[in-house]
Amino acid sequence: DLASKMSCTAAEIIKKLMLMGVLASINQEIDFDTAALVASEFGVNVEELPPEVDPTLIPEIVDDPKSLVLRPPVVTVMGHVDHGKTSLLDVIRKTSVTSHEAGGITQHIGAYQVKCQGKKIVFLDTPGHEAFTAMRARGAQVTDIAILVVAADDGVMPQTIEAIHHAKDADVPIIVAVNKIDKPGANPANVKNELMEHGLVPEEYGGDTIMVEVSAKKNIGINDLLEMVLLVAEMKELKANPKREARGVIIEAQLDKGRGPVATVLVQSGTLRIGDSIVAGTTYGKVRAMLNDRGENVKKAGPSVPVEVLGLNDVPAAGDELAALEEKQARTIAEKRMEKQRNEMIHAKKVSLDDLFNQIQEGQLKDLNIVVKADVQGSVEALNSSLLGLNKNDEVRVRIVHSGVGAVTESDVMLASASNALVIAFNVRPDANARRVADAEAIDIRTYRVIYDALNDVKDAMSGMLAPKY
Ligand code: GDP
Repeated sequence: DLASKMSCTAAEIIKKLMLMGVLASINQEIDFDTAALVASEFGVNVEELPPEVDPTLIPEIVDDPKSLVLRPPVVTVMGHVDHGKTSLLDVIRKTSVTSHEAGGITQHIGAYQVKCQGKKIVFLDTPGHEAFTAMRARGAQVTDIAILVVAADDGVMPQTIEAIHHAKDADVPIIVAVNKIDKPGANPANVKNELMEHGLVPEEYGGDTIMVEVSAKKNIGINDLLEMVLLVAEMKELKANPKREARGVIIEAQLDKGRGPVATVLVQSGTLRIGDSIVAGTTYGKVRAMLNDRGENVKKAGPSVPVEVLGLNDVPAAGDELAALEEKQARTIAEKRMEKQRNEMIHAKKVSLDDLFNQIQEGQLKDLNIVVKADVQGSVEALNSSLLGLNKNDEVRVRIVHSGVGAVTESDVMLASASNALVIAFNVRPDANARRVADAEAIDIRTYRVIYDALNDVKDAMSGMLAPKY
């Protein structure tokens, strides 16, 4: 490139470099100073251009460690359907709102703050891992701790296992709430044994997973659970700098007939104030009003505080990053993003077997993440172990992010999207929802009837030998 700009040959430059004691190959990158020196030997002046800044990116802020103060933990409740997630969120909310506050009727804004031992904890009140994964798919990591609810009379179920995989994949610590211990058929010991099979070993058996026995219905053990949340939070030393422009994440957003776009923001760092200019995804505006989880008007919100924000020009998406910036900058970023979104192909570049080899070659891909679904447990295991058996080449490593028995569901696809995985389905098909989401998220779902074929495809794709599919 340098040679062509200076109208000489690459060989001439390489020779000059050698004389200067720099051994360079033809396609090697040299730094600016070296380039300037070589160019001057040819009588050419070079000028250093400022690095190009992506106009759609929010400028990063590096906080002085001294400015960081502790912030409350953000907790998501996950678990199998009917195991008591909603009941748990309800009882936590009710018991932790003190009587003088009880007048201010609680309002659903997608997250709420409670107090335990004078310390605050934030709960995302959309239970389940769907919201969690949807946000992660957009690159947002909001949750600090996951509470996994398992009913003591039902034990570990498919969505329990899914939730474990989701939390582990996101590197979020799990606290288990063994729920419904008031029920006659409750068997907490059995739940713990089953969880051990999935890598969650309770402390009493020498492991490091905290398990608390609770009843959401009879309000038993709830305080213990909250204390454990505080304990884990303390170990994680969650900190943020409250004294600067806010950065946060959109938890949920909708268009309100009277109020216009309404977005719940969880502030992650800095402090958001009325009048701040903000950008979130492709939307921008000025904070016109803010309401807390009790429906009260507030003027500012610091780290780990969820607030409903009015004033955006449009409805952002859950998982979008929110930033307070100068007015013009906020607007420009939003507009540039709109433009980019329009220009870009609708499909984001996700991993696909057809394109796998190119992505490996370009160094974009280090892990080949796979979600495996099959009709019977035996096939799941056979597929898992043989796929992992392909891990002989160092360029790319196969990782099974999730595997299970049954049809490919929307949740599988969202997990695949969040972890940039492809889905291998053996003797099962995606249901209608899964297919729709897979299209929207550009997830490659491969269905097979012969294990050998699945393995061969992955192997061929890894080595760039996969025959194109027409
Ligand atoms: P989710 O689907 O996980 O949100 O579960 P829900 O919170 O809707 O609870 C499902 C059912 O279990 C409801 O009928 C609850 O009343 C019941 N339930 C929840 N927690 C308990 C509990 O601790 N004890 C008993 N006996 N029932 C519970």
